Amino acid sequence: MSKGIKMRSAKDRHGHPYTVETLQRMHDDGQSTPDLVCDHASCGCAVRFVPRYQQNRANRIEPVDVPAYIGLVKDSEHITGCRYDAQGRLTAIARQSVPDFIKALDDGKRELRLLVLHNSLRNQSLSGNPPAAPGGKPATSPAGNTTTQIIPSDKKLDSYLRTTADLLALRAACESDALLAAELTLRLGTKRIPWKDFFFEHERFDEAWELVRSGGVNPYPIALAGRVKNHYQPAAGAKFKSSFLNGHSLYRKTDDPNRLEVFEISVAHPDGQWLSGFPSGSEIVMFGLWKAAEVVEKPVQDKKNPAHTITYVTYKLTLSPRFKRQLIAAD
Ligand SMILES: [Zn+2]
Repeated sequence: MSKGIKMRSAKDRHGHPYTVETLQRMHDDGQSTPDLVCDHASCGCAVRFVPRYQQNRANRIEPVDVPAYIGLVKDSEHITGCRYDAQGRLTAIARQSVPDFIKALDDGKRELRLLVLHNSLRNQSLSGNPPAAPGGKPATSPAGNTTTQIIPSDKKLDSYLRTTADLLALRAACESDALLAAELTLRLGTKRIPWKDFFFEHERFDEAWELVRSGGVNPYPIALAGRVKNHYQPAAGAKFKSSFLNGHSLYRKTDDPNRLEVFEISVAHPDGQWLSGFPSGSEIVMFGLWKAAEVVEKPVQDKKNPAHTITYVTYKLTLSPRFKRQLIAAD
């Protein structure tokens, strides 16, 4: 896995343009694909076509679809200023950020200080009331200390959210965690969070559920990247006012062939029109303090074999964003 941004187009050595779709068709027809270079003006670094493939992961019901893309060949780098230069984009994001959120470290790397954002995300519920700490005890941070409630100004908070959204969009555009993990340390108070415990793609929704569940009443914000499945809006006059955006679930096999685990992802918000602005099929990153619901087991008659029932065990994660910047279109 290289550190680069996944590209949708490139050109051959003679300057002829190719899209990922054209290259995939050539590949499917058994034609060899040309030697490719970056199509950004004056960059022209060597890149390669990676055809779509399916990954069979242990316990997954469906193989994980990895879509085709164009990426860097080994040891190739985009020039500074190329639109696919991930390092350059990271530098630009850090430059635009307020210094107390992304801190430059002595070794040239950077640190993202999630605690200020974390406090803002949990400070108030959407109703405008501060959430009651269970049992009347003071809220503690995931680092174990009593949370120092440093609540930033609206302007600063907006800047934190914009920086986070930009970083997550950059991560979603990259082939893997490699670049961000190498360049940016995530810190929550005294605790260091590895990227794999912060950013979860569809195939790891089960790990995200475990993490949120283990965080209990003191979770830290995480990002889930997935594809929008559908939307739900309450009927006019309904008691329950939230609209929902539902992501594609992850299905996991168990040792019992009649028992399937389903990891569901939903975003709840009163503004259904805003949620529908992320259309079905589109890629999205959802960031914030997720809630894990109680596990629900439901036996369902097998359509193919009515004498037979399958038990679906549902693990549900829900995000109720306080800020619209917590949802990021990743396409
Ligand atoms: Zn380039």
